[in-house]
Parts: sequence; C-alpha cells; structure tokens
Amino acid sequence: MSNQDAPLVIIGTGLAAYNLAREWRKRDSSTPLIMLTQDSGRSYSKPMLSTAFSKDKTAEGLTMADAGKMAEQLSATIHTFVSVDAIDTHKRVLSFDGTQLNYRDLVIAAGSETINLPIENTAQSKTFAVNDLEQFAEFQEAAKTAQRILIIGGGLIGCEYANDLLTTGAKISLVELQPTLLSNLCHEAIGNALVSQFTEEGIDLHLSTAVTAIREDKDGVVATLNNGTELAADIVLSAVGVRARTQLARQSGLACERGIQVDRELRSSVKHVYALGDCAEVDGHLLYYVMPLMQCVRALAQTLSGTPTAVSYPAMPVTIKTSRFPIVTNPPDTTPETPVHWQVEHVEGGVKALAYNVSGALIGFSLGGSSISEKASLAKSLPKVMA
Ligand SMILES: Cc1cc2nc3c(=O)[nH]c(=O)nc-3n(C[C@H](O)[C@H](O)[C@H](O)COP(=O)(O)OP(=O)(O)OC[C@H]3O[C@@H](n4cnc5c(N)ncnc54)[C@H](O)[C@@H]3O)c2cc1C
Repeated sequence: MSNQDAPLVIIGTGLAAYNLAREWRKRDSSTPLIMLTQDSGRSYSKPMLSTAFSKDKTAEGLTMADAGKMAEQLSATIHTFVSVDAIDTHKRVLSFDGTQLNYRDLVIAAGSETINLPIENTAQSKTFAVNDLEQFAEFQEAAKTAQRILIIGGGLIGCEYANDLLTTGAKISLVELQPTLLSNLCHEAIGNALVSQFTEEGIDLHLSTAVTAIREDKDGVVATLNNGTELAADIVLSAVGVRARTQLARQSGLACERGIQVDRELRSSVKHVYALGDCAEVDGHLLYYVMPLMQCVRALAQTLSGTPTAVSYPAMPVTIKTSRFPIVTNPPDTTPETPVHWQVEHVEGGVKALAYNVSGALIGFSLGGSSISEKASLAKSLPKVMA
C-alpha cells in the first residue's frame, strides 16, 4: 500500500481524538480511519469525572458509547488497550504491540498524564489520581467505604473533587502549598472566598503547607505535612497537576517543549504528523481544557480533508465546577513582568475581580458566586488568546 492510500491514524480516543474523527468524517467518508488507545476506548466527557459523585454517576453511567459503537459511528477500526511505542516518521509507519501500521497522516491526541508527587509513599494502593474513566472507577470503588478522604492539591481538580466528595458524607481534608485555593487560575479574592465556603462546609483545609510523606497505617494512611502535622485518612486523592504526554513524540524525533510543538495548522515539526488536545503546544500555548481543543478540532478536520486551516483561540473563560461557590475565570495571558491592575469588588453573594492592562483595557477576570452571571458580557471585551 502506498502511503497516499494508507489510513488516517489517530493516537487516542479522548475528547480531542473522537471529536476530530467526527468532524473529519463529515468531510471525508472514504479514507480509512484507524484509532489506537491505551484504555477501553469508551467515549465519555472527562470534565464530568469531578462531578460524578454528586450526580450519582458511575463509570458506566458516564460512558456515552463503547469502542464498538464508536467504531461503527465513525466507520473506523479502533484498537483498545494497545500502546503505540514507536513512530518511524520517514517511512510513515508506527508500531504497537509488535504490529506495524502505515499512515497517510498521523494525529497524536495522547492527552496528559498526572504528576506524581516525588515523596515517600508506602500506601500506593490507597493513593489515587483520576485522569481517565478507568482510574475514576477504581477511585469511586475505594471512596464508597471511605470515611476520611485526603485530597492533595487545591487547583481546579482538587477543588472540584473536594466540592463533589462532600456529597459522600466522608470527612474531607485538603492540603495546598499556596496560601489560598486556585492560585494559578484566579485572583486571590476568589480563592479566599472559596476557602471560606469550603471551611463552612466542614472541609479541613491545610494551606501554605505540603505533604512530605505518606505511610500505610492499619486503618488507612497517615500523611505527614512539612509543618509537622500528621493527617489520618482512609484514602488519598492526589491532584497536583498534569503534564502533556510527550514521551512517544520526543523519542520519535518530534520537536517538544512543554508539549508537542505544533503550528497554527496543528502540524508538528515532522511532515504528516499533527497533534492536538492536552499533549499539544499550539504556537506556544499549552492549555489543558476542552474549549481550545474544540477550536483545534474544527481547524484540523479541514486541514486533513484538503483545506489547510489555521486555528484561532478566542478568549476562553474556564468554569470551575465548585457548585457550592461556582467560579468562572479567565486569567490574564501575561508574563510575570507585565503590569496588571486588578479591581476587586465584593457584591451580594459573590466576588468580582477584573484585570486591566496599563492602557485600561480588560485583559482577564475571576468571578465567584453570584458574579458569574457577568461571564458572557465580560468575555466579549477580552482580547483573543490567538487571533
Ligand atoms: C477531573 C477532571 C476535570 C476536568 N474538568 C474540566 C472542565 O471543567 N473544563 C475543561 O475545559 N476541562 C476540564 N478538564 C480537562 C479536559 O478534560 C481535558 O483537557 C481533555 O479531556 C483532554 O482530552 P484529550 O483527548 O486531549 O486527552 P485524553 O482524554 O487524556 O485522551 C488521551 C488518549 O490518548 C491515549 N494514549 C495516550 N498515549 C497513547 C499511546 N502511546 N498509545 C495509544 N494510546 C495512547 C489514551 O489512552 C487516551 O485515549 C478536566 C480534567 C479532569 C481530569
């Protein structure tokens, strides 16, 4: 088979991969499509993992379609529980589990992986991280009987899980290195308002401190903090961040920085290889959210069907699903040296923090509680992330 007659191959079956396959199939119904995934290939919405407890959903309940159904819908062949271990970009051949596969074009939508805290942990079997449906199922099973759950990390995922796990009735403790919650995403006034809300809800917050060790205990685990405190729990949820999955791309010679480097047409440094989603650094932007990947999906579907199309990013505010104190944030896209002037207003049931540049133009915002109703009108005034 010449490479021109070879299939479009997509690595991954997450939101980036399945949405791309769907958009591209609308334009090309004849080119063969092969998708490869390390997991079960079930189609689901990953953001729903951190609201599943309050919505009373299991992994099965979150599944929209299994791999067989997706293969049918997309006229695709989907190989599940396989790992692509090498790409020969000169011959346009990849290999997985001893099988070789030619591609016309290859799209890497390999997502992100959770960061493991580099600490001593003798309670690995009671320590969980949730970044896919299978991991969620394991965590949910363990959480069923847990009376005390310790969350490490007060970013988006840690806070959403703290909010969600309250519905289980377990005692929730959360440890965060920074003096407030959500400090990478929000103005501190919003983080502090969430601290107050969580404290009122009975969450045991430990701010400005870090977990230095976790050890197994007869009743569960004991975590030691760097201020000497010992916290007992039945299970631990580690939510200290994710990083782009780049190992395969790096070893195959693709240029990578924090993510797989691609241009505005999602082209990597190597011909016929593209990347999108959590693994891709698009023209310098590495964003682990659904909105940017959907922008990329629309552009890449066109490029792959013969109309080269550059992606653009509008302002893309992020909704943080802390339903007890809902938050929408659009941190200003600046360097630490850029002067930003914040204006903070406490209103009935909410907090509004607006970020302005030196010329007085709105460049970001963080909204909490009742103020989130202003999201749409404020977002219109924000500059595009990538015009
Ligand atoms: C709990 C949680 C809540 C979130 N909430 C929000 C939210 O509210 N809003 C928002 O915008 N974003 C949210 N996000 C982020 C958002 O879900 C992700 O940005 C998005 O799902 C990433 O999709 P993806 O397809 O790039 O990656 P993934 O879904 O991680 O998919 C990666 C795929 O690649 C496959 N793969 C990787 N390597 C290989 C290999 N070598 N061989 C074969 N297959 C491979 C995997 O098996 C998988 O199928 C949340 C994330 C989490 C974890």
